[in-house]
Amino acid sequence: MSLSDIQTRLTAAETAHGRAPGSVHLIAVSKVQPLDRVRAVLAEGHRLFGENYVQEAAGKWPDLRTEFGPLAVHMIGPLQTNKAKQAMDLFDAIHSVDRPSLAQKLANLAQSKGSCPDLFVQVNTGQEPQKAGILPADLDPFLKECRAMSLPICGLMCIPPEGLDPIPHFTELAGMAARNGLSGLSMGMSSDFESAIAKGATHIRVGSAIFGARRPA
Ligand SMILES: *Cc1c(COP(=O)(O)O)cnc(C)c1O
Repeated sequence: MSLSDIQTRLTAAETAHGRAPGSVHLIAVSKVQPLDRVRAVLAEGHRLFGENYVQEAAGKWPDLRTEFGPLAVHMIGPLQTNKAKQAMDLFDAIHSVDRPSLAQKLANLAQSKGSCPDLFVQVNTGQEPQKAGILPADLDPFLKECRAMSLPICGLMCIPPEGLDPIPHFTELAGMAARNGLSGLSMGMSSDFESAIAKGATHIRVGSAIFGARRPA
C-alpha cells in the first residue's frame, strides 16, 4: 500500500457510498514511523497527519512545518491534562477529548489563548474498561457541559474493539453525532476505513496502510 493507493480507495468509497467528493479527510497517522517515511509522504504533497504522543510530535512537526510550509497535525491519542497546553500549541485538532477534567482544562486554556483547536469527543462505543472515551450513556450530558464551556466541539471519534465487526460501532457513532447536531465523524483505520466512509466518516485515520508496519515501540 502507499499514499496514492489509499487516496484511490478513499475516492472510490466516496463514490460508491454517495458521499460528496472531498468530504472525507485522510489523516496519515505518522506516530512511531521513521522520519524518512514521513518526509516521503510530505514530498508526495500530503498535508494532514495524525500523532498519538505530544512529546514525539513536538520533536518532529515544528521543523517539518518550517521545511514544508502549511500543514495540519491532529492529536488522536490519549491526552494527559498536564500536556494540554503543549497540545493546544502543537495541534490543529484534538480527537481525544474523553473526560470532564480535560474539557475544563482545554476551556481554561482556550480562554486565555483566545483560540482553540477543533475538538472531537472520543466515545468508548465498545464500553471497554481499558479504553479511553466517554461512555455512550454519558455522551449527551457531557456535550452539554462542553457547550456550556464554549468548547468548539466539531464531532465524535471512536476506536471499535479489536477483533469485532466495526460497522455497528460506526453506525452507533454516526447516530450519536446526528442526534447532537455534530457533523464531524473521526472513524476508520487501515483495516476498515471503507466501511467507515460508508457510514459517514469525515476523517479517517490511516497509519500502517500508508507508511508500512510500525516497529514495536
Ligand atoms: C495508530 C492509530 C491509528 C492508525 O492505525 P492503523 O491501523 O495503522 O491505520 C488510528 N487511530 C488511532 C487512534 C491510532 O492510535
